[in-house]
Amino acid sequence: MLRPSGTPLAPLLSSQSAVDQAAAAAAASAKDGAAAADAVEQRGWSIGQFATQVPAREGISAGAPTAGLVALTFDDGPGPNTYDVLALLRKYKMHATFFIIGMKVAATPGAMAQAVAEGHVVGNHTWTHASLPSLKPAILKQELRDTTEVIRKETGHNVTLQRPPFGDFTAATNRVDHSLGMLPVLWSVDSADWSAKDSQTVVSNVLNSPALGPGAIILLHDGGGDRSITVNALPAILDGLVARGLRSVTIPELLRTGPPKTSKEGDYKLSEYAVPSQ
Ligand SMILES: [Zn+2]
Repeated sequence: MLRPSGTPLAPLLSSQSAVDQAAAAAAASAKDGAAAADAVEQRGWSIGQFATQVPAREGISAGAPTAGLVALTFDDGPGPNTYDVLALLRKYKMHATFFIIGMKVAATPGAMAQAVAEGHVVGNHTWTHASLPSLKPAILKQELRDTTEVIRKETGHNVTLQRPPFGDFTAATNRVDHSLGMLPVLWSVDSADWSAKDSQTVVSNVLNSPALGPGAIILLHDGGGDRSITVNALPAILDGLVARGLRSVTIPELLRTGPPKTSKEGDYKLSEYAVPSQ
């Protein structure tokens, strides 16, 4: 089911109809009613059941620390390295969430359809990788809508997760996410792979992070340039997760384990693509 019947959804989202439309679109893409319910339940394509767990001004930064689950996330693709990432995830039988840049889809056709077919989830990282608060509201909405539309065309699925580029978000940009049926998703472990000079640094940034543990959302990149350093780091990262009794699942799967941890505006100002604070 989409959410327990008889459980009212608090009016957190500025447009409940957007959530309903998202669920309806996901349902319509499946072959029949039962399959639709299964798809929504298993892939978490409806955010209705999670909406009350996330304060309207905040974004999801980690899952509940209740099980040996983490969520690997890959940003800025799709690109040539996406297929390498997919092959490694397949080998280790783990799942991830890909936050893609809409304008990049045409150059790597089929990659996101393959990702979804292999059990991964695709989220919205805007059309041009713009900082959300820097955009005029109409442009922001268009960036997000166009990206959701290209994902829908590629995968047949709706989009319910949005990652703000650079970790920049405000209450106002969250409202736009919500109006389009999406929740903002940040991270708790930053691999800083985009600035790393070698794979060992990326491995160390992840496995030695004090935030690595059950519920962690790990930020990596499969696009935005040559990500061979990330690809080469991935086997050691995946081995390290296994050694710690951790398994990567999609963000919707992680959210089903309990209420997430959240972060507020400004917490990520010095993270993705910015000068490190130290
Ligand atoms: Zn990004």
